[in-house]
Amino acid sequence: MPVKPVATDPRRSLPSVDRLLSHQFLAAAAAEHGRELAVEVARAVLAAARATLQAGGATPTLDGLAAEVAGRLVATARGTLYPVINATGVIIHTNLGRAPLSQAARAAMDAVAAGYSNLEYDLDAGERGSRYLHAETLLCRLTGAEAGLAVNNNAGAIFLVLSALAVGREVVISRGQLVEIGGGFRIPDVLRQSGARLVEVGTTNRTHLRDFQEAIGPETALLLRVHSSNFRQIGFTAEVSLADMVELGRKAGVPVVDDLGSGSLLDTTRYGLAAEPMVQQSVAAGADLVTFSGDKLLGGPQAGLIVGRQALVAQLRHHPLARTLRVDKSTLAGLQATLLHYLRGEAEREVPVWRMIAEPLDALGARADGWAAALCARGLAAEVIPSTSAIGGGALPGETLPTRAVALTHPDPDALAAALRRGDPPVVVRVAEGRVLLDPRTTPPAEDSALLAAVVAAWG
Ligand SMILES: *Cc1c(COP(=O)(O)O)cnc(C)c1O
Repeated sequence: MPVKPVATDPRRSLPSVDRLLSHQFLAAAAAEHGRELAVEVARAVLAAARATLQAGGATPTLDGLAAEVAGRLVATARGTLYPVINATGVIIHTNLGRAPLSQAARAAMDAVAAGYSNLEYDLDAGERGSRYLHAETLLCRLTGAEAGLAVNNNAGAIFLVLSALAVGREVVISRGQLVEIGGGFRIPDVLRQSGARLVEVGTTNRTHLRDFQEAIGPETALLLRVHSSNFRQIGFTAEVSLADMVELGRKAGVPVVDDLGSGSLLDTTRYGLAAEPMVQQSVAAGADLVTFSGDKLLGGPQAGLIVGRQALVAQLRHHPLARTLRVDKSTLAGLQATLLHYLRGEAEREVPVWRMIAEPLDALGARADGWAAALCARGLAAEVIPSTSAIGGGALPGETLPTRAVALTHPDPDALAAALRRGDPPVVVRVAEGRVLLDPRTTPPAEDSALLAAVVAAWG
């Protein structure tokens, strides 16, 4: 007698968590990532499948469910922060982690990270020492300053300077320099937050020495200059030179603080670029404090560097905020190793940011030719074209370096770029005039084969 089919709930067709985890795809994955995590992920996948069924979707296969669990386990184990290939040609790419570090910097960071160090221990005296010493000696030698201090980042450096030296008092700054650095970091907001009072002088396009002169009074704590890192003013403009500000500050007994943003220890004009302010020049011009980033043109780990007068740096060091902004041992080790490259005169060769800036066009062309040939051999539409690389990181806005890029002609360039971003390793590219561009300037040769494999895989 035929059995009358019963109208079963389709959700009943889903396997149990145990049955799913005993699938052949998953036995190894569950062992690797731990049973607890595997159960949690399997539950989540089954819950999603149940919801799909309830909404009238198709019943998934057991293999499909197992593959989904395995994929999610791998993604969880990978974490959310990992290396990517930067083929954009933007050297100091803030979204991609700014400066890649030199081999020596990485080795120095690893050495102190792996064990103990004399971070705050004076080995000669056998007693407590200062962590600040490690950055200060080199910063002073390289910039000519009396004293120096490294904190978490340059935004923190400015905040510390304002909090320690100007709370409840006035800071005079040109209207043309009330800038937004990026990520919502606005100089007027930082000033307010620090407890200092902002006194804007001049106009958006023109500020004169007499504007500063007229603003100085008994409440003036500092004269502040901020480098317009990420934009350029052209036309009918005027700013007061640092030398003039210093002369005025001396007469009035008011310290002058120069926030360089990136700042540079090397002369950018030697590389066919506009002049990015050099830290040594600001110190020589008499700025009482100069602040700059560790991970922009310096090419080191994230840090905010402050150099200047001994008495002022001592005030910063003793302010409670210095503790909240302090740098860890691996940052100090990486910073020290990076600064040593400058001391030895080998920064252009050893610091990746400078190596990328200095890379000759024919070397870039040869690498692009190699990439294009390899991609064409795989049947992809690739050709080498003249293009430009950018400095990025709020340094030298609008300045570019000539490069040779590989242009990929694909029916859907945005889809190709998206597939490259989702690859393993992810590759970040530029899309220009309907083509995907790969710039060899920011991709070290060691990444060549990974990059080419990623492009072939993403092509579809
Ligand atoms: C980049 C920049 C900052 C902030 O530096 P971080 O190291 O990113 O905190 C501050 N001021 C200027 C002018 C900058 O260009």
